[in-house]
This record gives sequence, C-alpha cells and structure tokens, in this order.
Amino acid sequence: MLGKFIVFEGIDGSGTSTQSELLKDFLLDNNINAVTTCEPSSGPIGNMIREGFKKRLSFVRDEKLFDEQMAYLFAADRHDHIHNEVDGIYYLNNKGITTISTRYFFSSLVYHVNNEEEYNFVKKLNEKFPLPDLTIYIDNPVEISLKRISLRAHRDAYENKEKLEKVKLNYKRVFEEYNKNLLIIDGSKSIDEIHNEIKKKVVHLYGI
Ligand code: ADP
Repeated sequence: MLGKFIVFEGIDGSGTSTQSELLKDFLLDNNINAVTTCEPSSGPIGNMIREGFKKRLSFVRDEKLFDEQMAYLFAADRHDHIHNEVDGIYYLNNKGITTISTRYFFSSLVYHVNNEEEYNFVKKLNEKFPLPDLTIYIDNPVEISLKRISLRAHRDAYENKEKLEKVKLNYKRVFEEYNKNLLIIDGSKSIDEIHNEIKKKVVHLYGI
C-alpha cells in the first residue's frame, strides 16, 4: 500500500510540530510506518532558507522583493522535498511510508502574499505540486502563538503580531479554496484534545 501524505498548517507557535510528532507515534503504534518532515526541508535549498532566516545569509531587503524571493526559494525547496530520490515524499510514499509534513504550499500562499496579484503569482508557482491526502489546519489565536513564540531563543522574520494577523487572515481564504481532505482544529484546545481529534480523523483515513 502507498504511504499517505499528511500536512500540518498553522501560524507559528500553533502546535504543528508537537502534533506531527504525536501523530507519527500514534501511527507507529498502529504498525503504520511514518516519518515527520517539514518545510523548509532538510535538503540543500531548505538549509539555505534557514541560514537566511538566521541572518547567516542575506536576502533582499525590500519587503515586496523579499516575499517574491521567498516564494521562489520555497517552491524550489518544495520540488526537491517531493521529488528527490533519497528521502523525497514520493520516494517514501512509494515505499509505503506515510510522510507527515509541517507546512506545505499553503504556507507559501499565506506567508508570501499581500494582495490578489501576489496570490495568483504564488498559486501559479505551486500549481503542479500534489494535494495531500489530509491537511490539518490548527487555527490558533495570534495572542496565544505570540506568547509561545516569545519563549523561543531564535525568532524568524515572520514572528511578529502584524505579520501573524495577516497570515491568519490569509489562511482563512486559502482553506476556503483548498477545502478538500481538510481538518480544521481550534488551536486553543489542549494538546491532548487536539491529538484526539486528529486520531479520530486518521483512524477513519486508514481504516484502523
Ligand atoms: P509550531 O511548530 O506550530 O510553531 P510547536 O509545536 O513548536 O508549534 O509549539 C509551540 C509551543 O507551544 C511548544 O512549547 C509546545 O509545547 C506548546 N504547545 C503546542 N500545542 C499546545 C497546546 N495545544 N496548548 C498549549 N501549549 C501548546
């Protein structure tokens, strides 16, 4: 059987990493081979993006050009994340391994977009990428995310109130459009409550 492709989305600090690990453990406990992965990926382009976020590399400073540059870089990273023949999503899914990714092209549509023209541009860049078998959007209040982010040692370019509010609004629009195989969960619930909602959905998806 082919492995499934599951995606977590949410504003920073919404609990996507926490829930993806819990889901992986739940699947492994049920004898379903699964790995977690993320975007930016751990591949060469993904690492370049990370170095940029840490300011070890410099990106363009103009805000509009920065978003455009990010959209191109993330799309290139995504291509590699899906197609590379070492640990790419297709390669793993074809071996029967489920891949659980925190973030996918929905993130490009919410983080690198400020208006209709940019939305269409980013959508076009990403149109050939496959849709996941299940997308889980953890819809977290900005205030809660900001509190959690403030405890982190490193913060990236996107982790401020204004940006997160814009991103949250963009998510609303994106998931009105991409509403197939979508589970939306209230991020203000406890870790266990969220995990239980995800388990219910996944049990149904795998017939376990
Ligand atoms: P993300 O990967 O979406 O940025 P994380 O999974 O890293 O978010 O979670 C950010 C922080 O919030 C972590 O310290 C995590 O333990 C905590 N956390 C995650 N989900 C919840 C939740 N539902 N309630 C309370 N704290 C949470």
